[in-house]
Amino acid sequence: MKVKLDVLFGLLLSGLYIATAVWVHRQYKPPAVENSGFHLMMGTVVQVTAVADNPAAARRAIQAAFDVLQNVQRTMNDRDPNSELSQINQTAFEQEVQVSPDLFAVLCAARQYSQLTNGAFDSTVGPLVALWRRMETTGIEPTPEEIQEARRRVGYEKVILNPTQQTVRFEAEGMRLDLGGIAKGYAVDAAIGAMKELGIRGGMVDVGGNIRCFGTPPPPAKHWTIGLQNPRAEALSAKIRLDELAVATSGDYRRFVEKGGKRFSHILNPATGESAAELISVTILAPSAMEADALSTAVSVLGREKGLALIESLPEVEAIVIAADKPEELIFTSGAAAYLLK
Ligand code: AMP
Ligand code: MG
Repeated sequence: MKVKLDVLFGLLLSGLYIATAVWVHRQYKPPAVENSGFHLMMGTVVQVTAVADNPAAARRAIQAAFDVLQNVQRTMNDRDPNSELSQINQTAFEQEVQVSPDLFAVLCAARQYSQLTNGAFDSTVGPLVALWRRMETTGIEPTPEEIQEARRRVGYEKVILNPTQQTVRFEAEGMRLDLGGIAKGYAVDAAIGAMKELGIRGGMVDVGGNIRCFGTPPPPAKHWTIGLQNPRAEALSAKIRLDELAVATSGDYRRFVEKGGKRFSHILNPATGESAAELISVTILAPSAMEADALSTAVSVLGREKGLALIESLPEVEAIVIAADKPEELIFTSGAAAYLLK
């Protein structure tokens, strides 16, 4: 019996030794890093990076992320007449429409951000966006009457969401949901979730400046970092340490229409129907990409004073903004400096 116990103990020890050796080897074996390159999707540029034990695992994770992004694009693109969102836009005034779980979750989140931002974020801006898009293609500026008419069809409180039935209904005719200010962030979170599920070491998903990372960065880096561009200086003006944080940047420099020396941003103030003009760049750091996305759009509308006050009131959220009248200066919320790298 004594001998048997000794053998058992010996076996256990050697088992432990092998497990430790495997663990140590895994820790020090350099990971495989794969990058998707740039892809045009969701009306912007998408890039995914995966860090895994081997190239095949990294590529599988990248594919999983793209599958998720594709799915969100198919569901929530208001420019595609066959998307689920377009079906809602066409019929939700006449009747209640059943909504898929993903889309329903985004609609609920959008409403929460509307409430939080006092309506500065409002995904029912579709009718105003249509006027803006007309200007983008034809150069015809919306008249005050057209803006007023469109605004009657805007307002998150006119969207009735039924959580038990998972349905949506519009209270005004001609309403149009536009998830351009939140869906990219949602997609990034979902894609990161899919990569994590595969158990890889780390990854990054970037959908047009909506970025989230997790785990180990590509060696030799110790942190996931991003460069923040000054839109008027065309130079990297700050480097931010992200690690597990998400980041989103909204601004007038990527998408705008210029007329008579004036810039019209694609971000619209639902209260006035006008383009947001005070801030030329708004970067938000937040625990989730969806939160960063929605809040970057909202702060663009709210402007410097109200926007930064809102962000200061939110735990774990920081902002870095550039004002139109002082384009060379970066303005930070109180906690943002902690994430800057020199
Ligand atoms: P982002 O680039 O995330 O700031 O989103 C801008 C996009 O969101 C626009 O192209 C519109 O599709 C949509 N949008 C514009 N204004 C608003 C707003 N006030 N609230 C929510 N979405 C908006
Ligand atoms: Mg946004």
